[in-house]
Amino acid sequence: MERGVTLGRMDSLLKDWDGETVIVRHDKPSGAWIFIAVHSTRLGPAAGGTRMKAYPDVQAALLDALRLSEGMTFKFAASGMPFGGAKAVVAIPGNLERESRTALLQRYGALIRQLGGLFRTGPDVGTTPDDMDVIATTGAPYIVSRTVGAGGAGDPGPLTARGVFTGIKLLCGRLFGVESVSNRTVLVQGAGDVGGSLIGMLREAGAEVQFSEVNDGLIRTFRDELGLRYVHPSATYSTECDIFAPCALGAVLNAETIPRLKCRAVAGSANNQLETQADAERLRAMGILYAPDYVINAGGVIGVLGMELQGWTRDKADGEVVANIRRNLDQIFESAAAEGVTTDAAARKLADSRLFGAVSR
Ligand code: NAD
Repeated sequence: MERGVTLGRMDSLLKDWDGETVIVRHDKPSGAWIFIAVHSTRLGPAAGGTRMKAYPDVQAALLDALRLSEGMTFKFAASGMPFGGAKAVVAIPGNLERESRTALLQRYGALIRQLGGLFRTGPDVGTTPDDMDVIATTGAPYIVSRTVGAGGAGDPGPLTARGVFTGIKLLCGRLFGVESVSNRTVLVQGAGDVGGSLIGMLREAGAEVQFSEVNDGLIRTFRDELGLRYVHPSATYSTECDIFAPCALGAVLNAETIPRLKCRAVAGSANNQLETQADAERLRAMGILYAPDYVINAGGVIGVLGMELQGWTRDKADGEVVANIRRNLDQIFESAAAEGVTTDAAARKLADSRLFGAVSR
């Protein structure tokens, strides 16, 4: 009965999804489920990160892969990059011992190689460039963001942060007339890989940075060693700031949090920040300018794919990330203002126009 209910829910998740293909593997030695969701190959070979974590149940893992893969299609399309959207989820049953984790990653790499180029991957939540080195032992040449020592572009986090920083400056220009973060208050939610780099860039440029975290070690580093103002997670949404930069979790902008916001703009790296599309309208009604997540957080993929597939240097990658994100966000803010729609709707229109030509869905 339980099994029937589970399969029934997975069946409806797949039927309601508008993507192309899902590859499913139950990895018996580790008990992990692997889902590779290829949402679209319309603009080119499908690519997207590998998320590895424990989920409450297998449907939640599948749903995450399906939603994230769609986001990748929009991300590549909005960025004007010749790739299709995909995402992999490796749903592990709790923490794995180092050896069984390595063996799982190698079996996963072999599966990617079997797909013969349908799917390319790099790191996402729960995986690192070191993991990409392991996956590449069986999955090359379809693995990007390996460590620099192994010939890859390394951690995409700082490139993603560069893009978010660019977007925040652009927003300051639109809101305050000067493209500078100097003396602007920015609240960064999550001081991890991207958030930590972003905090460094903001401080260097003279912003007043506040941060929210749940990791004790990171709280100590940023609050006690660097002297930043720490905001408890329970107070994050109601804390006054110029820019709120979500760099931790998805679905943080919703019917419950948006009415509490006291910021002028939202611009951060987290994927799927809006819980529903209606939340874009809620933000607009509050007069809060929203930088669509998949546009402002594209710096990592732009830079890494450019370095690994087009031979860019790191400097060139930084420059291209800045130029690309400036151009796309500018276009989105302009068309949202001109057409009286949300920035989320304007971003979707831009992505659709690149996916389907001039015809919007
Ligand atoms: P990360 O795991 O290194 O950092 C996330 C941080 O958020 C962690 O330090 C964690 O402790 C903290 N956190 C978790 N829950 C929190 C809460 N309730 N309040 C405050 N902090 C909390 O991840 P990352 O690589 O920095 O990515 C951050 C986000 O950006 C994710 O949503 C990711 O999908 C997205 N993203 C990352 C990249 C990239 O290049 N790494 C690219 C695009 C999008």
